[in-house]
Amino acid sequence: MIHNIAPHKLDNSFKITPDPSGGLAVLFQESKVLLEIRGEQLCIPSYDKIAEKYGVARQQFLCSLDQQDLFLVELTKMYLDASYDFFPIRSLRRDQRLSREQRFALMTAWHLYTWYHNNQYCGTCQTPLEYHKTMRALVCPNCKREIFPSIAPAVIIGVVDGDRILLSKYAGRPYTGYALLAGFTEIGETPEETVAREVMEEVGLRVKNIRYYKSQPGGIDSNLLLGFFCQLDGSNQITRDTEELAMANWFQREEIPVEDDNYSLTFEMIALFKNHPDLFQTE
Ligand SMILES: [Zn+2]
Repeated sequence: MIHNIAPHKLDNSFKITPDPSGGLAVLFQESKVLLEIRGEQLCIPSYDKIAEKYGVARQQFLCSLDQQDLFLVELTKMYLDASYDFFPIRSLRRDQRLSREQRFALMTAWHLYTWYHNNQYCGTCQTPLEYHKTMRALVCPNCKREIFPSIAPAVIIGVVDGDRILLSKYAGRPYTGYALLAGFTEIGETPEETVAREVMEEVGLRVKNIRYYKSQPGGIDSNLLLGFFCQLDGSNQITRDTEELAMANWFQREEIPVEDDNYSLTFEMIALFKNHPDLFQTE
């Protein structure tokens, strides 16, 4: 999965006054990120080079990758030459020109950036918010309200019926490949209840033996993905929600058309079912 970057390590613990020199500069513009072009390779730009070339008006510590800190920057001037360009954050996830650990660091940086960007004013009194000095939070200088980072939990669901697993395709989304059923956890709901509800809503099936598998930080959509396997309980007759899904069908193990892509929890789960029948024996 994309977050498996060992021996590299991403550390998201907050630092109070880190020194940006020697660090990396992260600049987002709409849904694109500034990257340095080094021949065929891409990399997150050095803070010092960006500061020297464009001038940094404001910065905010984001996270650390190995020994380097990443800083969200606002620049005093901006022009591009052949060494730098903006790249869409969504397509970078699988872009081999950038190291895997830098790709994952940028997913995390994007999640933090969207939280900062979407919380510029206090929702209670509309005063511009300030960075909290000692923790990852924003604070209202007027009413003292503190705003903490938001993460949206969502489930990914492997519905199993003996030697078959349920695969689906989304309706009306850019991604048209195979997927597992998925959905966001509602307020007041456990993730296990989300699994049962989403399966019923999307394909009209009942499930049992709901078991947690693994998680994956989402990054781009500010979510935390929680993978669950469960077993069909009762009728296998699919009633597809056509607004949500373009396709939903049972696949025998040998018919499963995808392999682990080493990026997504979804494909790891499908490949686990496909390649390890011993783990799914019910008796
Ligand atoms: Zn306020």
